[in-house]
Amino acid sequence: MTRKLVIIGGGAAGVLVALQVVRSSRTPTTLTIIEPQQRLGEGVAYSTQDHTHLLNVPAGGMSAYANDPQHFVAWAKCAPHDFVARHRYATYLRAELADAVATSNTVRTQHVCDTAVTIGQHPLQVTTSNGTVIKGDALILALGNAPPTRPDWLHNFAATRVISDPWAPRALDAIGTTGQVLCIGTGLTFVDIALSLARRGVRVQGVSRHGLLPMAHADFGALPTLPASFDSPRAVLRWIRSQTDWRAALGALRPVTQQIWQTFSPLHQAQFLRLARRHWDIHRHRMSAEVAREFADLQATGAIVVQRGDGRQHAESGTFDAVVLCTGPDDAALFTTPPLRALADAGLIHRGPHGMGVDTDAVSGQIKDAAGNLVAGLFAVGPLRRGTLWESTAVPEIRSQAQQLATLLVA
Ligand SMILES: Cc1cc2nc3c(=O)[nH]c(=O)nc-3n(C[C@H](O)[C@H](O)[C@H](O)COP(=O)(O)OP(=O)(O)OC[C@H]3O[C@@H](n4cnc5c(N)ncnc54)[C@H](O)[C@@H]3O)c2cc1C
Repeated sequence: MTRKLVIIGGGAAGVLVALQVVRSSRTPTTLTIIEPQQRLGEGVAYSTQDHTHLLNVPAGGMSAYANDPQHFVAWAKCAPHDFVARHRYATYLRAELADAVATSNTVRTQHVCDTAVTIGQHPLQVTTSNGTVIKGDALILALGNAPPTRPDWLHNFAATRVISDPWAPRALDAIGTTGQVLCIGTGLTFVDIALSLARRGVRVQGVSRHGLLPMAHADFGALPTLPASFDSPRAVLRWIRSQTDWRAALGALRPVTQQIWQTFSPLHQAQFLRLARRHWDIHRHRMSAEVAREFADLQATGAIVVQRGDGRQHAESGTFDAVVLCTGPDDAALFTTPPLRALADAGLIHRGPHGMGVDTDAVSGQIKDAAGNLVAGLFAVGPLRRGTLWESTAVPEIRSQAQQLATLLVA
């Protein structure tokens, strides 16, 4: 009998799962990837065609295979510490998948270029926006991050002046080469957008509640030895502070962050999110040294200004030609998008711990329904698993999930 697997979302996570399935399957399998983009691998992060948008992780951390860490370095013909243009990563993923498919005797793949709108449980199937129904023995949700939301108060502004999703194709085209733009949010998305705009001559003001910018990558020495366990988030933060190099400390924590997160009580997890989330994010998700240098130069000339404050107050000052939301994904909006809304309405999914992502089994990524029961045949990969795992956004974590899931699916 032919096994039928359906991956919903053909961004980085979906392709990584597909790749692992194709490489490890030994029995006849049809693998369908439902993805509205023409080209696989081009989700939010890797669809940018701006060659100056670099990976935020050194090439040495971006291999598709955890057991072959230098694979991407060899493919990109670069050094492990180089930061490669992001769009090349999508090319890499597609090339790897194409190679794997070409040499597989058992797996047939197809890309259905459409959006999944509903998911049925009995039988397990997906319906796409043009009415196509695709049945599967297992469905894998690889939908990426929640979309950004546009705060209500921004509705007062003329539509053309507000860019709610700066990663949407040609989103910045409406902004010319002069004038003043307000960006709300000062994380990694802001850094990319601010650089793109400032290079064309636009003056950029970034504002966020804390006014914190991502730190820069830099070389660090040997990783310190971790204590046997941490009994609270405070203990983790104390330990990081006690180390001579915080980058090395985070490097040591990275492979075990998910395990540490799961040993914390819900109260401790909430405490971490309340007290340390912003600082964790800016230290853990860093920009390349090259990007940091250019950003600092543009700050020095006044072309980019970063401030701490209230986005609404700044926007209402009325002196901006456009407002760009760089606030990133908003978990509150997760269930507003099909097919998650339909699944939530049917009680098949519910929010993950602390409202992040959806509730899943920590090991397999199998979805848990509103009563906490595992839903047969329904899995998630990538940022949707953030509540359960905390770190579930970047390639090093996603490729491990993809491998574990593929092992389970082809067993
Ligand atoms: C700007 C930016 C830069 C980043 N840089 C890095 C980096 O350098 N290194 C790193 O490790 N991580 C980086 N990340 C983290 C990034 O989230 C992951 O690396 C990775 O892209 C996540 O993959 P994903 O497949 O889960 O999401 P995505 O790549 O966003 O893919 C989700 C896919 O699902 C599709 N989809 C959505 N809804 C439906 C539907 N209803 N039906 C069918 N398909 C649907 C979308 O079209 C999309 O292609 C970055 C993130 C961002 C936002």
